[in-house]
Amino acid sequence: SDIAIRRALLSVSDKSGVVELAGRLAKAGVELISTGGTARTLRDAGLDVRDVSDVTQFPEMMDGRVKTLHPMVHGGLLAVRDDPDHAAAMEAHDIGSIDLLVVNLYPFEETVARGASRDDIIENIDIGGPAMVRSASKNHHYVTIVTDPADYGELMEELADHDGATTLAFRTRMAVKAFAKTASYDAAIANWLAFGDAFTNPLGPEALKATPFADTMPLAFTKKDELRYGENPHQSAAIYVPQSVNAKGIPQAEQVQGKALSYNNLNDADAALGLVAEFPADRPAVVIVKHANPCGVAVADSLLEAWEKALACDSVSAFGGIVASNVPLDGATAKAITQIFTEVVIAPGADVEARETFATKKNLRLLMLDELPDPSRGGFEMKTIAGGMLLQSRDAGRVAAEDLKVVTKRQPTEHEVADALFAWKVAKHVKSNAIVYAKDGVTAGIGAGQMNRRDSSRIAAVRAREAAEAAGWEEPMTVGSAVASDAFFPFADGLLSAVEAGATMVIQPGGSMRDEEVIAAADKAGIAMVFTGMRHFQH
Ligand code: 5GP
Repeated sequence: SDIAIRRALLSVSDKSGVVELAGRLAKAGVELISTGGTARTLRDAGLDVRDVSDVTQFPEMMDGRVKTLHPMVHGGLLAVRDDPDHAAAMEAHDIGSIDLLVVNLYPFEETVARGASRDDIIENIDIGGPAMVRSASKNHHYVTIVTDPADYGELMEELADHDGATTLAFRTRMAVKAFAKTASYDAAIANWLAFGDAFTNPLGPEALKATPFADTMPLAFTKKDELRYGENPHQSAAIYVPQSVNAKGIPQAEQVQGKALSYNNLNDADAALGLVAEFPADRPAVVIVKHANPCGVAVADSLLEAWEKALACDSVSAFGGIVASNVPLDGATAKAITQIFTEVVIAPGADVEARETFATKKNLRLLMLDELPDPSRGGFEMKTIAGGMLLQSRDAGRVAAEDLKVVTKRQPTEHEVADALFAWKVAKHVKSNAIVYAKDGVTAGIGAGQMNRRDSSRIAAVRAREAAEAAGWEEPMTVGSAVASDAFFPFADGLLSAVEAGATMVIQPGGSMRDEEVIAAADKAGIAMVFTGMRHFQH
């Protein structure tokens, strides 16, 4: 089963080591055939090479798309040497057998990674290379395939040990590697085609809704890290990043210090980053997250002030929280944050003083990002259910002042509208049912994850009262606040409990069968209410 190498085809994008290998083959009397660039490299090194175009009697054409896709090549790779019919076909068409194929493919993933244009990426989808690799691998009983420059050394040893031949064991091992290579290569291409644009393009909700998901999901993800355990210690876990997609998020952040991130840290950090990225960097914003829900959010004139206000919203929950800011961290804010136990801090940078301050808290995980993700970018979310998987485009929906429809007799003031839009942004990132009170760019009370809207409303009001007691304020911040509801109020009761808490403005999607009843209740209470026409469920 040893097969002597008499004729070799070399066609490589990564030219490293190819001259040395070809030199050794030439010395052993092996005839060398090569494609354009590879042939040039070998000739420049003084080696004698036959052009593949000479073998095929066809020029390489169409920007190299068609070079080796020819029976003279594939016949030489695929022929079963001891089958009389095959031998006759080779004879009839003057096809010479190719005993060794050395190919590595166009650098598709590297081209995606360097942020190349779509056309450039498409051109870097290798067609002829994988075709040859598959032909040779299928026929590994006779043909030797090598797809990795790291294996050249072993190939040379194999040839030296077996008098210029390879063993079936070696050929089989290399064929396994080759098929694994073409499989992952195609998966990377499918992944990019299916998700690459969705991850990187700011498509907006309408365009995203129109994005059809493929009938079969390639979902090629690469393991980035094993995690100590999952949501609970008896669950195992790992983090994966999408292959051949330039994604930006927590997995791509630089961890400057601290213990390894846990499953819950990663999940919470993602929630914190998603929310803080909603706030433009022209005003500092701070988000504190616990169990993937914000427990305090504030925008202010300084980062320190934003931190203090976010903390005051619910200083009990903030203990052991995840903190994210939309601007680089400064020393004063870092000092204030380190006053309480914090698991993770995320920001687009930190000055020297901030870094030195955090360094005194060895366990605190500090994550630095180059820039915040664009909240209106594309992307998708997946979730497995027993027996299947759910996939949806991410909620990139955003609402601006001009989208609001005033439905009450009373018009909201400009200040109320600003607070309402702030509360709305936060509510989008609170698990449903979500009720968020906000005043002067600070969350006054957050009610999350209840099975009915009225309970969320009540919980948010209770939180606000407790915050007022803790801080020694005269009245809770819900008095004179705007309140956001992530979905419509199905009954007037939820709205009435907001009125009771002192809210003067309501922002909600609208669209309930009982909208009239809810509007009448708002009018009776003399508050302003706007409809967004968009809801933000997050279960
Ligand atoms: P070279 O630098 O020798 O001109 O090109 C080498 C590369 O071309 C290798 O990565 C090989 O996989 C690829 N290749 C070989 N034949 C074909 C073909 O017919 N079509 C395409 N698209 N690529 C090919």
